[in-house]
Amino acid sequence: PVGVLAVVGRPNVGKSTLVNRILGRRAAVVEDTPGVTRDRVSYEAEWAGTDFKLVDTGGWETDVEGIDSAIASQAQVAVSLSDAVILVVDGQVGMTASDERIVKMLRSAGKPVVLAVNKLDDQMADYTAGEFWRLGLGEPHAISAMHGRGVGDLLDAAVDTL
Ligand code: GDP
Ligand code: MG
Repeated sequence: PVGVLAVVGRPNVGKSTLVNRILGRRAAVVEDTPGVTRDRVSYEAEWAGTDFKLVDTGGWETDVEGIDSAIASQAQVAVSLSDAVILVVDGQVGMTASDERIVKMLRSAGKPVVLAVNKLDDQMADYTAGEFWRLGLGEPHAISAMHGRGVGDLLDAAVDTL
């Protein structure tokens, strides 16, 4: 059976954009409005000769209760069914308390996590990814899902964990 890679993170950080970039087609729904990806959606994907299943999630796109109410969410289910996780954070916004709560949850799930710092469209902004070392997930991978920058290196690291 092929490995399963789940893409998780706060609303609007660019999870579906990244999934589309990896698939090389527009399959996942991208919206400016948070909350659009309501269910987990799974796609067949391939990178560097490795086939895997890629799961887009929207389960953390809840309101004020945030992560607490999301414990039983689709994203939680997706993580439990996955072999590895790409955690996407927003490099333009910087680190948030929600990011830290998600990391706690991921730690208890015990799956390998590769960290993607998205929306760094300009190489000049890559240094800002450094603040995410504090999440304790190893190297923050600076990417622009929109333009494709850094996505190859991210996938190399992610597929390595499968
Ligand atoms: P999701 O809620 O995490 O799935 O986020 P989406 O993929 O739906 O994207 C949310 C918004 O962020 C959309 O307006 C995207 O166009 C935008 N976005 C996603 N990736 C990037 C990126 O690399 N750079 C910039 N500037 N915007 C992005
Ligand atoms: Mg989405």
